Amino acid sequence: MKTCLNLPLSAPACFAGIVSLAGMLFVSTLTIAHADDTPVASTADARDKSPTDAEPAYQPKSKSELRRSLNRMQYDVTQNEATEPAFRNKYWDNKKEGTYHCIVCEQELFDSKTKFKSGTGWPSFYQPKDEKVVGFRNDWRLIYTRVEVHCSRCGAHLGHVFDDGPEPTGKRYCMNSASLNFVEADKSAKNKPAQNKPADAVSAAQDAKQD
Ligand SMILES: [Zn+2]
Repeated sequence: MKTCLNLPLSAPACFAGIVSLAGMLFVSTLTIAHADDTPVASTADARDKSPTDAEPAYQPKSKSELRRSLNRMQYDVTQNEATEPAFRNKYWDNKKEGTYHCIVCEQELFDSKTKFKSGTGWPSFYQPKDEKVVGFRNDWRLIYTRVEVHCSRCGAHLGHVFDDGPEPTGKRYCMNSASLNFVEADKSAKNKPAQNKPADAVSAAQDAKQD
């Protein structure tokens, strides 16, 4: 069998062989050097190198915990992908400045600066706070495909995203109020996301002030 040292063999293959051999030697050297280091790198060191180290691991809540902390609509929307009624929900016409957090895990999801009037009767945003705070799945339940949006931290269903939103993204994140907790800007320092206040009742007053 022809090898790198026993020509002929193509030059690229030969070069690749040498690089690979050098690589193995380098790794071996590192391994030996590492083995001499005592103690070996701690898991904390390993975490330091992880890009996700800043975020403490989320402890998922059990179904019974969720049932206790969420009202029925919040539970059905976030856990069973239900959709709340248009115009009869808490935030569709909320114009206050602040941030919208996941009702289940409190992760910050949307900023009021990206909320816009969509006319749909659900709170609509043209982009999430950060692209990492939401995840997507295809939703096949209707005759056409929709893209379902969920919280990247706890998996709570939030709503859907469509391509008919305004600039600058052209996206419309059509969310359920029941999956969100709004924290008003000037109160955010002292008013951490309220833990799932009973919000079954969407006030009639809110309905009354719709435009
Ligand atoms: Zn969440």
